Amino acid sequence: ARECGEDGCFQFYSEAMNRAVSEQVQLEAGILQGIRRGEFFLNYQPLFDREGKRLISIEALVRWRHPVLGLVGPDRFISIAEQNGAIVPLGELVMELAAGNCRHWREQGYRDLTVAVNVSARQLKDPRFVERVAAILQRTGLPPQALCCELTESVLMEHSNELTERIFRLKELGVRLAIDDFGTGYSSLIYLKHLPVDIIKIDRSFVRDLVEHDDDLAIVSAIVALAKSLNLRIVAEGVEKAAQHRLLRDLGCDLMQGYLFGKPMERDEFERFLTQEYVAASPDAAEAEPPE
Ligand code: C2E
Ligand code: MG
Ligand code: MG
Ligand code: MG
Repeated sequence: ARECGEDGCFQFYSEAMNRAVSEQVQLEAGILQGIRRGEFFLNYQPLFDREGKRLISIEALVRWRHPVLGLVGPDRFISIAEQNGAIVPLGELVMELAAGNCRHWREQGYRDLTVAVNVSARQLKDPRFVERVAAILQRTGLPPQALCCELTESVLMEHSNELTERIFRLKELGVRLAIDDFGTGYSSLIYLKHLPVDIIKIDRSFVRDLVEHDDDLAIVSAIVALAKSLNLRIVAEGVEKAAQHRLLRDLGCDLMQGYLFGKPMERDEFERFLTQEYVAASPDAAEAEPPE
């Protein structure tokens, strides 16, 4: 209508922009303070075995209970934290909480449970990263093999000796390494040959239309074949439908993650889930372990 003249519209845009800018500023300035005030917490999402019967592992996913903005997901603050460096203390907090809780649950009787945490490129650039991980394992008492660090392909594309050496030292601690969102990065597969990777997580963008699109099926089959020939474990992300699960199982994926098996859950909810879903590993479970 006519009342919305040029000035009015300008006013509208400018308010919207102000809001966006101020939200950005609040997120940017608030991370370190939020860490001190205990505003960050973890959700846990289960990873099931191939048949979808047994809970094998969990992924820790960070959330922020912001005093003004409410519940904020990682897509809104991780890249900010990477830019301003706050990801270093935040990532350390995430790893400490995840490792501590996993150790706790293992002691409760879920003795084979393992946990994965996401590690940003920026964290690996910190020369003390490996020390920090070692200290966390020491403090929490979690065995290194029970911790998996999920790295994205962008990390591995940086051909620096320093970074490569750091990844090897991380591996020497005994922790597992996974490539997250596999297939979305630059996908020069060379790093698979040169780096001590244990697990590949197929990005959910390939899983989404897997049943309907032959292209996605071809891509996933190729990734699985590659991973098998390199002796890597394969996780399928974003499994939402039974038909996707059946196909991924038949293709040979080792682990399943997605809403079909469980959404990311807060600690209490996850503990109830664990009680219901966890089936103690059978003696032949050792065979399912990735090669040393
Ligand atoms: P990611 O590591 O690939 O984690 C999987 C994301 O997919 C999670 O989103 C999870 O909630 C979502 N997801 C899982 N199953 C399904 C499904 O069946 N359908 C759909 N549509 N989505 C599913 P979330 O928790 O929002 O995390 C987003 C991303 O933020 C993560 O992707 C990870 O890259 C990053 N992130 C989360 N926590 C951390 C952290 O502690 N540190 C770092 N550096 N990054 C983190
Ligand atoms: Mg991940
Ligand atoms: Mg992923
Ligand atoms: Mg993803």
